[in-house]
Amino acid sequence: MSARIIDGKKIAAEIRAEVQAATRRLISEQNLTPGLAFILVGHHPASESYVRSKEKACAEMGFRTVTEKLSEDIVEQQLLDAVARFNEDSTYHGILIQLPLPKHIREDRVISAIDPAKDVDGFHPINVGKLMLGQPCLQPCTPAGIRELLIRSGIDPSGKHVVIVGRSNIVGKPLAAILMQKQQGANATVTVVHSATNNIADYTRQADIIVAAIGQAEFIRGEMIKPGATVIDVGINRIVDAASPTGSRLTGDVHFESTSRVASAITPVPGGVGPMTIAMLMRNTLQAARREFR
Ligand code: NDP
Repeated sequence: MSARIIDGKKIAAEIRAEVQAATRRLISEQNLTPGLAFILVGHHPASESYVRSKEKACAEMGFRTVTEKLSEDIVEQQLLDAVARFNEDSTYHGILIQLPLPKHIREDRVISAIDPAKDVDGFHPINVGKLMLGQPCLQPCTPAGIRELLIRSGIDPSGKHVVIVGRSNIVGKPLAAILMQKQQGANATVTVVHSATNNIADYTRQADIIVAAIGQAEFIRGEMIKPGATVIDVGINRIVDAASPTGSRLTGDVHFESTSRVASAITPVPGGVGPMTIAMLMRNTLQAARREFR
């Protein structure tokens, strides 16, 4: 068997086109331009590059953006003040604090200071609670993107056994909350495994859908999955590769070669889950501007 490739780039482009069209309507019919404020602390090359690509996507959508750059050594209160200013500013409907923050700043305190209605990352405890309860809210972008990828690829999670490898607050836990809801496009039986799970393969071999989100390069291999399973690879790892002109390459948490021989459908890295994360951020910003949450 050779697995069908789930094209995250194509599906993300569809979502971005939908958001772009809806934004045009919102601007022309209601004179309302969605606005997203970024807060970037310090000079981490990866964080700077993430913010740049999100700003670019916003420009393509027709959103207004601003990026508040704060120095690495600011005190927590200065960051809280910046959040408070954007909470009050009605031209910005979303606030995104690029993580990680410097160690001396309490991330949970800063996230909790964001107005939950502007929390486009879906990390505020109010949104996390609503997600768990199955209530409309701003959902975290990566797990919401995974659900969208599955549905738009014709893979309905309803009634399926989904095994999520990894229990982080940004991927594993919220994805479990999303997929277990008694709702259309969810309604799955969810198992979450992690670093304290004995014999992970005993679980992954029972899965109809496997989601790998652990940050361990090529951890999931063909022999760990059931023939015909769907495999979603969230991981982004840079590994040494002498054959590559740069000496390294990106790979996921799934060993693509062995797994794609056993699976029925699989996401590539890059080009799978990654593009969906930004597309869902665009959708969340539009929802925040309209104050219509799903
Ligand atoms: P975290 O490091 O926050 O969490 C990793 C999770 O995996 C933890 O629950 C950890 O267990 C578990 N884990 C780690 N090693 C093992 C192991 N050997 N066996 C079983 N479980 C293990 O990672 P994130 O969720 O933030 O990210 C996961 C991956 O996804 C990374 O590669 C990251 O770069 C990528 N990512 C990609 C995104 C995208 O848009 N494509 C977005 C977000 C992340 P424990 O809890 O016990 O420590």
